[in-house]
Amino acid sequence: MPLKFRLAGLAETFVDNVRCPKCGHDGGDGGDQGFRTDLTRVTFDGIVVVVQCECCNYVFIPDGQKLGVIDPRKLRAAVEKDSTTTGQPILPGISAVRLEVERLNAERGSKIH
Ligand SMILES: [Zn+2]
Repeated sequence: MPLKFRLAGLAETFVDNVRCPKCGHDGGDGGDQGFRTDLTRVTFDGIVVVVQCECCNYVFIPDGQKLGVIDPRKLRAAVEKDSTTTGQPILPGISAVRLEVERLNAERGSKIH
């Protein structure tokens, strides 16, 4: 089942299907079961969907997601405002989110071992 993430009037992202690259979990019959998406980040490039597998806790960016930006100027303003509000650094694009995801997995790995 494709997932859709949307910020009204700003951006939207479609994910065709999600499969954990670590343990192969594929979301069951619904296609989106056993995954958490609360690590999803909004960047200047659009919404970058970040998924955490509830089976093995691995964090990953699903392949084949289509990022659509509806209003680049408003999106940029929203990302900047969000950064000011939350104190989190701005993630300019998907490559910055990839680094963040690598960091999350590395931290998790070092806690386990
Ligand atoms: Zn997994």
